Amino acid sequence: MALIVQKYGGTSVGTVERIKAVASKVAAARERGDGMVVVVSAMSGETNRLVSLAKDICKRPDPRELDVLLSTGEQVTIALLSMALQEIGCPARSYTGAQVHILTDSAHSKARIRDIDDARVRADLDAGRVVVIAGFQGVDESGNITTLGRGGSDTTAVAMAAALKADECQIFTDVDGVYTTDPRVEPKARKLDRITFEEMLEMASLGSKVLQIRSVEFAGKYNVPLRVLSSFEEGEGTLITFEDECMEEAKISGIAFSRDEAKLTIRGVPDQPGVAYSILGPISGANIEVDMIVQNIAEDNTTDFTFTVSRNDFPKALEILKETAQVLGAREAEGDDAIVKISLVGVGMRSHAGIASKMFETLAKEGINIRMISTSEIKISVVVDEKYLELGVRSLHDAFDLAAESSE
Ligand code: ASP
Ligand code: MG
Repeated sequence: MALIVQKYGGTSVGTVERIKAVASKVAAARERGDGMVVVVSAMSGETNRLVSLAKDICKRPDPRELDVLLSTGEQVTIALLSMALQEIGCPARSYTGAQVHILTDSAHSKARIRDIDDARVRADLDAGRVVVIAGFQGVDESGNITTLGRGGSDTTAVAMAAALKADECQIFTDVDGVYTTDPRVEPKARKLDRITFEEMLEMASLGSKVLQIRSVEFAGKYNVPLRVLSSFEEGEGTLITFEDECMEEAKISGIAFSRDEAKLTIRGVPDQPGVAYSILGPISGANIEVDMIVQNIAEDNTTDFTFTVSRNDFPKALEILKETAQVLGAREAEGDDAIVKISLVGVGMRSHAGIASKMFETLAKEGINIRMISTSEIKISVVVDEKYLELGVRSLHDAFDLAAESSE
C-alpha cells in the first residue's frame, strides 16, 4: 500500500460540483488500496474575498486577527470535501491545521512550519479513513492560529508528506504540469515529464508560478517526490525529483522570465572600500530585495554600479539611491522599470560549455540588446527591454529546441 498526499488548489475545489469530482478521485485511489491524505485550499476567490472584508474594516488589520479570518476559507473546504467523501461511502475525517498540530513560528501571515505531530493522522489512516487537512494554516506555541503565506497549501501538503514519509506528494492544480516556458508567451512550450528540485526552484522564483517556492525547498530538503498534475485532465503531470543520469543530457530544461523587474544605476561613485555597502545598505535597510548586481571596472578612480529590484519597490529604491548619490558625491542616479529578465535554466548546463554564447548569439540575431547578464551553476539570466520579452523567449525556445520531445 502506498501512502499518497494529494493537494487540491482553489480552482479544483471552486464549486460544490468540483468538490464532488475531487471526492470521487480520492475515493477511487483509496479503493485501489492507497492510504490517502488530502490537503485543500480555500474555494477559489475565497481568500481574496476574506482579505477584502478585513480591508473594509481597517487599512491594516491586526495580523493575528487576519490569520483567524483567512484560515476559515480552508475550514469550509475540508468539511465539504469530507461530507462529499462520506456521501459516496468513503470514510473520511477533516482537520484544521491546529487540530493536527501543524506547529509553526508566530510570524503571522508568513509562518514557517516547525513540527507536525502525525499521530492523529496515522490513527485515521490505520482505521481506513481518508484524512482531509486544511492547507495554509497552523498554530503557534501559544495556540494562536497562523497562516503560511499565499499559496501556502502547497507547503502544508509537502510538509505533511515529509512528516508521514509519504511515497509521493501530488499537487493537483489547473495546469497539467510544469512547462518549458509559459505557454501564453510561447504556444509551442512543452510539458516536462521531470524536472529537478533545483531547476524547479529557479523556474518558480523566476516567475512560473505553479508552486509556492517554499514547498519546493521543503520537498528538496526532505526528499519528498513531488508531482504537479491537472485536476481536470488525465495525465502523469511533471515529477519534481533529484537529478538522474538521463537528465544530464538535457542542457536546458526551461526558460523562465519575470516582468516584475526594474534596474537602478548610480554613476561616478568613488572606487574605494565600503562603497557597495553604502549603496546597498540603505536599500536593504528599507526591506527592498536586490537581485542582480553589477559593478563596473573603475576608470579615473570612479565606478558605476547597477542593480535590479522588483518593480513595486522601484520608486522607493530610486528615492533612496538619489539620496545616497548626494551623500557619496556621485555623478548621477537613474533607473528604468521597463525591463524584464529572461533566464535559461538547466542542470545539464554545468557540464556543457557554449550555452551562454548560443544565448547571446540568438538574442543578437533578433537585434535584442542585453542590458545585464548574470550566471549561476544552473542558470543564465539577461535583462532586456520589456518590449522584447515575447520575441526573446520565443527565439530562445526555438534555438534550444525546447519544443522537441527528444531534447528532454
Ligand atoms: N487559500 C490560500 C491562498 O489563496 C492558500 C492556498 O490556496 O494555497 O493563497
Ligand atoms: Mg496555488
